[in-house]
Amino acid sequence: MMNFISTRGGGEPKTFEDVLLAGLAPDGGLYLPTEFPALDLAALKGKSYTEIAHAVMYPFVEGCIDADDFRAIIKETYGSDTFRHKDTVPLHPLKDNLYILEQFYGPTIAFKDVALQLLGRLFQHVLSKRNEHVTIVGATSGDTGSAAIEGCLHCDHLDIFILHPKDRVSDVQRKQMTTVQAPNVHNIAIEGTFDDCQNMVKAMFNDHDFRDEINMSAVNSINWARIMAQIVYYVTSALELGAPDKPVTYIVPTGNFGNVFAAYCARKMGVPINLVVATNRNDVLTCFFETGEMKANGVVPTISPSMDIEISSNFERYLFDLLGQDAAALSNVMNEFKGSGMFAVTPEQLAQAQKDFGAQRASDDEMLATMKSIYDDTGYILDPHTAVGVKVALDIMGDTDGAVVALATAHPSKFPDAVEKAIGIRPALPDHLSDLFERKERMSELPNNLQTVQNFVRNGIKI
Ligand SMILES: *Cc1c(COP(=O)(O)O)cnc(C)c1O
Repeated sequence: MMNFISTRGGGEPKTFEDVLLAGLAPDGGLYLPTEFPALDLAALKGKSYTEIAHAVMYPFVEGCIDADDFRAIIKETYGSDTFRHKDTVPLHPLKDNLYILEQFYGPTIAFKDVALQLLGRLFQHVLSKRNEHVTIVGATSGDTGSAAIEGCLHCDHLDIFILHPKDRVSDVQRKQMTTVQAPNVHNIAIEGTFDDCQNMVKAMFNDHDFRDEINMSAVNSINWARIMAQIVYYVTSALELGAPDKPVTYIVPTGNFGNVFAAYCARKMGVPINLVVATNRNDVLTCFFETGEMKANGVVPTISPSMDIEISSNFERYLFDLLGQDAAALSNVMNEFKGSGMFAVTPEQLAQAQKDFGAQRASDDEMLATMKSIYDDTGYILDPHTAVGVKVALDIMGDTDGAVVALATAHPSKFPDAVEKAIGIRPALPDHLSDLFERKERMSELPNNLQTVQNFVRNGIKI
């Protein structure tokens, strides 16, 4: 059975089940498996997405989830009822050696579905086995909320409360959350900002009586199971492009370092791929890979809002490796960062980091120009997050051997204003969402007041 440890070194090794339900480790660290099993790439060539998903993920869940049960969960998660493409996360050849890895065929048309559709089903499986009920409380600035709701709506062993800042998410994003009619789904529009929402969720976690009373849990981006689910599409697409015999380079638009950390895990499992981090103007990650210094500098709003972050939560997992898996050293660095808003690594560590990842950035103007040039050139419509990666891909293609893959993390119709600004066309929502604006909304509006929201949660739990 696989063991999991905290990056900060506290506590006993944990099982997959513990790590799934806990999310964050009690010492504030992130969970990592104690080993990354090597994949038999030759045996996986030509296999389907669900077969490869089983091979990649089963070693992590073995001993907690029965092999046949896991196979059934994967089939339901990645089958055509959930992901509206036969290849689940397909490769689209764009031009020359450039491919787009389309991650937007899930219910909320963004890449978070790939992980959260699985996470909801894993919660349901484990909770029904234990006959337990949990209450998930989360804050969203847009994408995560709807993907979490869609992942959890069929779980009768949990209630999910999602806080969003009132009038500060896009109409599509709000409707995707508030038109879900499942009785265990509760949307709360908070009179405040995203930070207010997030601070309130943190305060609820820190109120231990309350946390225990409602059996509070989270599905946020630091949950190991989300990373695990994201490893799969790097394996499927790299094999399709001829790995391990041919070089493949991935450009990953990132904010919280979740998507690209999964790519790094695929590499640890034996898939030889090159990785480039692509950020927007909120470029704390790109600056780190350039200078070896990480500095929290505040957030500026961009047209790729799902990458507008100040602190990149999953970066800690990579830093653990970079610091030689020294949990005490990592804890010191994280405490320093928390205190002063910055830290630096040694020149040797920076050199290693630059070997592990390339890193580049794109401004709003560059995103718009890339969307326009790709549309004029190929007729393909990029969403603004995808455009960050494609901008970087076009810059490096001349110097790169083999296939270059840019990840498409959202469908363009999810960000119609930016697309219209770039190419003068408002892309239509896919069929399963075409009546989204006629659907009835259901949400509660609450003041930015902790007690009021806690009472609302207490009273709303279905059991
Ligand atoms: C969440 C998100 C990202 C960033 O993902 P990370 O896990 O932070 O790397 C990029 N694009 C879209 C559309 C997203 O929703």
